[in-house]
Amino acid sequence: MNDSNHKPSIHNRELPEDLKHCIAFHGHLCPGLVYGYLVAKQAIQLLGLHRSRDEEVVAVSENDTCAVDALQVLLGTTAGKGNLIIKDYGKNAFTVINRSDKRAFRFSRKAYYKYEGEHQEEFGRLETAVAAGDTTAKQRIRQKLLKSLDLLSKPLDAVFSTTEVKLPEPPYAPLAPSEACAQCGEMTMSTKMVDTNNGRHLCIPCASSSPNSSDQR
Ligand SMILES: [Zn+2]
Ligand SMILES: [Zn+2]
Repeated sequence: MNDSNHKPSIHNRELPEDLKHCIAFHGHLCPGLVYGYLVAKQAIQLLGLHRSRDEEVVAVSENDTCAVDALQVLLGTTAGKGNLIIKDYGKNAFTVINRSDKRAFRFSRKAYYKYEGEHQEEFGRLETAVAAGDTTAKQRIRQKLLKSLDLLSKPLDAVFSTTEVKLPEPPYAPLAPSEACAQCGEMTMSTKMVDTNNGRHLCIPCASSSPNSSDQR
């Protein structure tokens, strides 16, 4: 028996399987996740991607929002593999690259969002309340749900503009040998270390916490 009184009415069975996987990974359904989902689906089509070619796919996200989690699930571009690059510009834009056939597409969200679902009136009220900063948690959840479902029902062209772009320079940080930080002694990738004036190599936290790196304890 399921007491779903406190839950917004998500009819989970109406959601596509691959979106359910994204929700399971991310923890909730929200407009941000849907943006990433829409972009990933379109990229898969345009670039002819398959899971087996995961390693050939690179995603560059120009924001660090919920959207990134859908890219990780659907494109296999993950923080750990290094084929997910986050440029924290706060822009709702994403580039997906297929290295095997050297093609890339950039998706940029269109300026204006308009709710077109069946709950116009309710959504309008919720938007007004959100704008006034006067909402309950329940209302915010409801507003996000309505917006998410509406976004899912739109054609991608209504939400994102898509352009084929030149292949960006490989944005990889190649693997580099590690060495011990001269201050804390912890093993650190050599390309990430900071050179001090006296020739010592420090890890980033040590370099930023000791302006005078010649201090020795
Ligand atoms: Zn989210
Ligand atoms: Zn250190």
